[in-house]
Amino acid sequence: ALKTAAQYEESLRKLNFKVYLQGELVEKPVDHPIIRPSMNSVKMTYELAQDPQYEELMTATSHLTGKKVNRFCHLHQSSDDLVKKVKMQRLLGQKTAACFQRCVGMDAINAVDSVTFEMDQKLGSNYHERFNKFLLQMQEEDWTVDGAMTDPKGDRSLSPSKQVDPDLFVHIVEKRADGIIVSGAKAHQTGAINSHWILVMPTIAMGKDDVDYAVSFCAPADAQGIFYIYGRQSCDTRKLEGGDIDVGNKQFGGHEALMVFDHVFIPWDNVFMCGEFEFSGALVERFAGYHRQSYGGCKVGVGDVLIGAAALAADYNGANKASHVKDKLIEMMHLNETLYACGIACSAEGHKTASGNYIIDLLLANVCKQNVTRFPYEIARLAEDIAGGLMVTMPSEKDLRSPEIGKVVEKYFRGVAGVSTENRMRILRLIENITLGTAAVGYRTESMHGAGSPQAQRIMIARQGNLEQKKELAKSIAGIVQK
Ligand code: SF4
Ligand code: FE
Repeated sequence: ALKTAAQYEESLRKLNFKVYLQGELVEKPVDHPIIRPSMNSVKMTYELAQDPQYEELMTATSHLTGKKVNRFCHLHQSSDDLVKKVKMQRLLGQKTAACFQRCVGMDAINAVDSVTFEMDQKLGSNYHERFNKFLLQMQEEDWTVDGAMTDPKGDRSLSPSKQVDPDLFVHIVEKRADGIIVSGAKAHQTGAINSHWILVMPTIAMGKDDVDYAVSFCAPADAQGIFYIYGRQSCDTRKLEGGDIDVGNKQFGGHEALMVFDHVFIPWDNVFMCGEFEFSGALVERFAGYHRQSYGGCKVGVGDVLIGAAALAADYNGANKASHVKDKLIEMMHLNETLYACGIACSAEGHKTASGNYIIDLLLANVCKQNVTRFPYEIARLAEDIAGGLMVTMPSEKDLRSPEIGKVVEKYFRGVAGVSTENRMRILRLIENITLGTAAVGYRTESMHGAGSPQAQRIMIARQGNLEQKKELAKSIAGIVQK
């Protein structure tokens, strides 16, 4: 059944997470001021699912049970489901202006579903049946699942089994009658500490020397032997100052963590790949494809907030009538909607896999993500241009609130009459937050490297682009008959 937002928070409190932040074990991650805004973002995925106004985007009908489930727990049953996913992500980006983290699990279940089905067909294994059992529970409990792919990777020129330290990629340490023991780590894990379960996948196509590294499984996020080291985000300690203007986005954020597996036991029922290296590439490719589509939703929603903030900054300082400012806002909208168009296009062109769920058009999803590695930077550049230097040189909330100098801040940082200095500061801090504060992790660097760095998409574009067919078209039009 669907969890309410409050039930989600309660369920997280019950988990026994082992999280280190700045070298110390965190007692209650849910209440930690640096972590909490990221929990609020995931919470929004539960809250909106309860709202009749958003029911169509936020929920779907389970193909397993026919019951209503949160769309984040759903396997896409049509290209319409794929389109709704992108629309849901844009909505959540607009509501949080941050990474709401839950998409990685949705993208992972959709990739693992079709790959395990194809493995069973070819190998006679029963991975798909095991996976379905997990999926059923995920839907019933309305879990947030962290799809964990990226390993630390060590020396990039060496394959997993050639690394000096075998733990640089997650691997099977031991096979037992009742399950497997795994060790290693996953890096940059989005939303890990806000998740109930983790779904681990290999990070690259493996060769036959790497059989022990071709492993996929699920585990409770607080399983014995798993611990986390929380990542730093620029300006995150501003959250410890107690005010609310300087953080830019008081309520919402995202997080990333290093997830370490120290001899973790995984019962066979939770193992979805165990040495079948020839399928690791397909799993990586499909997960990455789904997550590249995702960015055509979430980053667009955050872009909507950033464009709105830039327009307000211009309203507040009286620059809104200048034709170049108007034109810059148009350019920002053009770039943002181009990303959205790519997200919708790869969804609308989706097709059915052998297991029955739907996958995006891989070429268009990769084009989508390639644009995401560029356009948010240009949108951020234009936002900073419109905002002006005050965005980074402005005094703090404490100065504004000071009985001694507050009046001075009020007086000298006022823009047009009728808008308070405080509101002007709020909007500039929000732009700062997205372009170079904590949310820049999601809006900029994650746009670059999340779901694979730009070169990974170019490889896929080369592979999927069908250049030979294009040559044939040109030859035919030009009247070239022989070689
Ligand atoms: Fe979802 Fe976007 Fe965050 Fe990925 S970056 S988890 S797609 S919100
Ligand atoms: Fe991501």
